[in-house]
Amino acid sequence: MGNLLKIFFLLILFPIVIIAQSSKKNYEYNIDLLHMKNDEVMVSFTPPKNNLEKGKFIIPKLVPGFYQAMNFGQYVSDVIATDKNGKKIRTERLDKNSWMVNDLKHVKKISYLVTDGWDSLQQNTDGAKSAGSTFKKDSVFVINYNSLVGYFEEMKDAPYEISINKNKDFYASSALDYKKKNDSTDIVWAKDYRKLVDSPVLYCVPDTTWLKIGTTEVLVSFYNNKERHYSQKIADHIKTILENQKAYLGGKLPVDKYAFLIYFETSKERGSIADGLEHSRSTVCLYRSGNMNFLPDALNRVAAHEFFHIITPLHIHSGEIQHYDFLNPTMSEHLWLYEGMTEYATIHMPIKQKMISLADFEKKLEEKIQGMKEFDNTLSFTELSKNAMERQDQYMNFYQKGPLLGLCLDIKLRELSGGKMGTQDLMQRLMKKYGEDKYFNDNDLFDEITKMTYPEIRTFFKDFIEGTKPIPLKEYLAKVGFTYDETTGKIGTLVNPDSKQIALRKAWIDQ
Ligand SMILES: [Zn+2]
Repeated sequence: MGNLLKIFFLLILFPIVIIAQSSKKNYEYNIDLLHMKNDEVMVSFTPPKNNLEKGKFIIPKLVPGFYQAMNFGQYVSDVIATDKNGKKIRTERLDKNSWMVNDLKHVKKISYLVTDGWDSLQQNTDGAKSAGSTFKKDSVFVINYNSLVGYFEEMKDAPYEISINKNKDFYASSALDYKKKNDSTDIVWAKDYRKLVDSPVLYCVPDTTWLKIGTTEVLVSFYNNKERHYSQKIADHIKTILENQKAYLGGKLPVDKYAFLIYFETSKERGSIADGLEHSRSTVCLYRSGNMNFLPDALNRVAAHEFFHIITPLHIHSGEIQHYDFLNPTMSEHLWLYEGMTEYATIHMPIKQKMISLADFEKKLEEKIQGMKEFDNTLSFTELSKNAMERQDQYMNFYQKGPLLGLCLDIKLRELSGGKMGTQDLMQRLMKKYGEDKYFNDNDLFDEITKMTYPEIRTFFKDFIEGTKPIPLKEYLAKVGFTYDETTGKIGTLVNPDSKQIALRKAWIDQ
């Protein structure tokens, strides 16, 4: 009888208990863009259900893609924790970016105020702005969640539900899906903090154009305080490059949705300022200039590189990236892959897809070689990557020497496979092996790639990426019928290439 009763109670009560608990396993945030106080946004949240005596609340010091402390905690003030009766619970600020919250298990609500990181893109102000936020009441909000939302160190992996109070005619442009609760409230859900921070949002009266690239929905969203119908022009301009990128990646893109968020500030100053940050499924672009005629071309260049990041790091990345520590990050040693291979695809795709001439391609390579010469090329690229924060002076070489290493790797793979395999295939194989939720170990990647390809590739990594041997451009370009003059930096085509060189060049760039 006793057991029967128990079963009865379990059946009746168990589902109710489950529902009650699961709704509290996430952070429940409220962000009010409508009722700003002194230029500050009011933010509040209920922490996930927990049993903690206390917890360390963190707002990022750094975000992926930047290597200098940005201290987003500096924009947060008046942190107040209360219990279910509205009684205050003690909090203590530990440093710029963290707070200790006592008696966390009884905390019902934490509220605070956030001021924006930048008001205008004026020259001579410190730091990159594309990772920060700007709030212009009733006109535009560029939001990077790292400056508005935090997490408890003890509850890092919990999901987020965010409710945003906004102007009725505002639209949320983002790679995440915002659901309309009512005219002035949107709800958005993110699997964890990293995913939330990885998807910025542009809130304003919409000037948006959607492109369909294969099965991928690409959003082009534009904001300027005067020009309200410009997204179509940009979208028309970048459509061709995106279509070609799709073809280059084998005809199918690995994401369902991608967003270009473009903020343009009109100014009387001469010249232009550009600031941007790529994410897995979106790019934030900030521009300031006297006229906007340069924008379609500029966006074309941005799209060419940033869109390729849907391959790496999004689908090919190490544990350091998957479990990014927003307070004290450890760097991965594979920036040659994340930035170098991305930039290599950016210069290889146009020739492979016959968008440019052979002469244009040679010129592009010469520019990269010239660019590389501005840096110290005797450094190990894996070590430089690990020390990206300390070696800011060398960081840009990942975009110069990086793609040239990609080029050599491509040629080596073509040579070893009789033209059948190149970096395009390699990246596809890596994407299949790993993917968005499965990271590789930093130390194993070279061995893993070697297993997928040829033993000689291990020597290539050892010599030129881990090691400090000079990049073998002349030798490798000769394999595909090109000449390279190391003194002048000039590239040309061999007058009488042999049949092997012709075949490898055909496999490599289809020329
Ligand atoms: Zn990049």
